[in-house]
Amino acid sequence: RLTSLGVTIDSAKRCEELVKILLFKVGLDYQNPYLNPFREFQRWKHHPSVQPTLEGGTRIAYGARALNEGGFQSIPKLTFPGGLLIGCSPGFMNVPKIKGTHTAMKSGMLASEAIFSQLTNENLQSKTIGLDVKEYEENLKNSWVWKELYAVRNIRPSCHSILGVYGGMIYTGLFYWLLRGMEPWTLKHPGPDFAQLKPAKDCTPIEYPKPDGKISFDLLSSVALSGTNHEHDQPAHLTLRDDSIPVSRNLALFDGPEQRFCPAGVYEYIPLETGEGSRLQINAQNCVHCKTCDIKDPSQNINWVVPEGGGGPAYNGM
Ligand code: SF4
Repeated sequence: RLTSLGVTIDSAKRCEELVKILLFKVGLDYQNPYLNPFREFQRWKHHPSVQPTLEGGTRIAYGARALNEGGFQSIPKLTFPGGLLIGCSPGFMNVPKIKGTHTAMKSGMLASEAIFSQLTNENLQSKTIGLDVKEYEENLKNSWVWKELYAVRNIRPSCHSILGVYGGMIYTGLFYWLLRGMEPWTLKHPGPDFAQLKPAKDCTPIEYPKPDGKISFDLLSSVALSGTNHEHDQPAHLTLRDDSIPVSRNLALFDGPEQRFCPAGVYEYIPLETGEGSRLQINAQNCVHCKTCDIKDPSQNINWVVPEGGGGPAYNGM
């Protein structure tokens, strides 16, 4: 379960040297395929309690990122022959704090200690290739990382309780802030984010206001500020498993949600030259590598692979 994050930086009117970093989180378990996280972000900036902070400022950067919100219930097996999952990849983020740097660093420290211990183990010195360092997972489970993630395990899934988001807030107040997550039960997530979308026919299209160019902005001018630059000769990092799925399923059933959930305008349905029907165009050069498409594509047909290094985004100051 992941969450997409929109970021923009604005310098404020009252203090020219002040740089404001706005973070806007959208849970990717949303159901309406017409929801557009980027445009939600632009609309939110016009909220009466947000707009005055931004008035007179200048937009200087933009970016987006997916956050691992699955937490304790979603941590996979952490070791395999020849490898370990450390850092952010297994999902060690503390959800209420939206922070995972400390847990990621600690997992790296525990991994290096476990690897060192195995490499210096006399019985294993003849076998250094394909080692399965199981000690790392045991050490992690005995560390404060595990305790911290366990204490916050029910916060995100509580938002899916019968009481909804407000019920989740009450739950968080009661069981986390007062009891520090000591309740003896563990709530479950309702399923993967891509499976939450409802068919477009069951949902209402969302009308978003036009950006004013001062506080809210259009997508492409924002992406231009992300500092992304793909070399022309690098292999495609966004491909489709089946070229027919976007039109036959995503467009037909969900009205092409990839046009809206991508915060960089990478996916676009354009009319066919014949004049009948449309096809999906992938503007991969715009990609800011947030990984949302890999998570939210309702057909799980988009194959996102890590792009070549050095192409950005360049989030200086974020
Ligand atoms: S193509 Fe995918 S990874 Fe790239 S910006 Fe769009 S949603 Fe994010």
